[in-house]
Amino acid sequence: MNLNNIMNDLEKKHPGESEYLQAVREVLESINEVVNENPQFDSAKIIERLVEPDRILMFKVSWLDDNGDVQVNLGYRVQFNNAIGPYKGGLRLHPSVNLSILKFLGFEQIFKNSLTTLPMGGAKGGSDFNPKGKSDNEIMRFCQAFMLELWKLIGPETDVPAGDIGVGGKEIGYLFGMYKKLARENTGVLTGKGLGWGGSLVRPEATGFGGVYFTKEMLKTKGDSFEGKTVTISGFGNVAWGVALKLNELGAKVVTISGPDGYVYDPEGISGEKVDYLLELRASNQDIVAPYAEEFPEATFVPGKHPWEVKCDIAMPCATQNELNGEDAANLIKNGVQAVAEVSNMGCTPEAVKAFHNNKIPFGPGKAVNAGGVAVSGLEMTQNSMKLNWSAEEVDAKLHQIMTSIHEAAVKYGTEEDGYINYVKGANIAGFLKVANAMLDQGVI
Ligand code: NDP
Repeated sequence: MNLNNIMNDLEKKHPGESEYLQAVREVLESINEVVNENPQFDSAKIIERLVEPDRILMFKVSWLDDNGDVQVNLGYRVQFNNAIGPYKGGLRLHPSVNLSILKFLGFEQIFKNSLTTLPMGGAKGGSDFNPKGKSDNEIMRFCQAFMLELWKLIGPETDVPAGDIGVGGKEIGYLFGMYKKLARENTGVLTGKGLGWGGSLVRPEATGFGGVYFTKEMLKTKGDSFEGKTVTISGFGNVAWGVALKLNELGAKVVTISGPDGYVYDPEGISGEKVDYLLELRASNQDIVAPYAEEFPEATFVPGKHPWEVKCDIAMPCATQNELNGEDAANLIKNGVQAVAEVSNMGCTPEAVKAFHNNKIPFGPGKAVNAGGVAVSGLEMTQNSMKLNWSAEEVDAKLHQIMTSIHEAAVKYGTEEDGYINYVKGANIAGFLKVANAMLDQGVI
């Protein structure tokens, strides 16, 4: 594979799609060696076929706000690759959403879904709609208008969307209701559904719990555990919430959360009633960071900054892409960080990842660390097909086993001569090989 030629070609074809190009470059750099050892991949142009999505649907979403005014947003679904199963990946509702971000997320999803060992291809979608400050009725009308276009492309054996930033149980409900009406069928077309209508126990917590299980395995390789560790996390959405719950259960102390306006440092730890308070704030669609510091005087609100300047044993970014840069990484390293696990998708910039690798700090990449969310979505699809429900214990045990197996795969392909585990390389190679071999088997299509 001529990596430079492929990247130059992509940059020419997709100028300005910086997140997408960043994600592709990271994967290609780490699988370069394996591709060169397997000439059959080159002759079948596997890489050239893998880096472009199968198709992209882009559509207008018109809806009425509570004042009766017409609002117009852009909607997207990027179906990237279905070599190993139906397209699968979340929907993101955030004003920053654009094609580059959804292509990066869809591309990452191919390898993540492959790592779970479950039969799921990669996709992503969403809209630049901002759910913040909107009434429930406005969110419902938007979701219905969005589904009016999307339903033509999806189906339980074709493409199964789920949640992501700005899409939780409420939005999935509105989306599902509209799909059901249009398609005249009640099938498992979305995951993250309510428990009473096809959802899986543990799905809301799965990404966070899975992230902690993966990090637990990372610590275990060094004979260590979470017990007594101080952990900094960012955001406080679906994912950060699950991470905080599980960390507290395993005896770690969570000392930060954050939002777009800054972060909160709580040296006494964020657990119990403090977590409940945060959930109340979130449910009422409000900012949560500054009000937290007002409610709990032991906490300090630090406006306009990221939590990576706080001394910690383990850092777990949980908010959004590129939220931890080279300077943040240098701060963490200076303060003695022992492991970094990226729970958000591409939460760390390439400079940050390089700094962790150069300093031999164990670094878990998002596609491995946060794969628990889509893994339990896969288990939700299985339960829907079988028309039965597993108990929380059964789902949690399967999630735990999947995260352990992802860790094993990353160790298998990522262990370097000096014993350092390059989890980025390991996860990318393990995820890639399964998809590439499936593409070879299925011919040029
Ligand atoms: P949520 O919308 O529930 O939460 C996102 C959190 O991050 C919120 O606290 C939000 O603050 C904060 N945030 C969002 N954008 C920014 C920004 N630009 N700067 C600072 N803070 C920001 O999303 P999720 O928890 O579902 O997702 C978080 C990450 O995890 C994303 O990278 C997502 O792709 C990834 N992920 C999610 C999965 C899932 O199952 N939900 C599965 C796998 C990965 P505020 O609300 O105040 O805006």
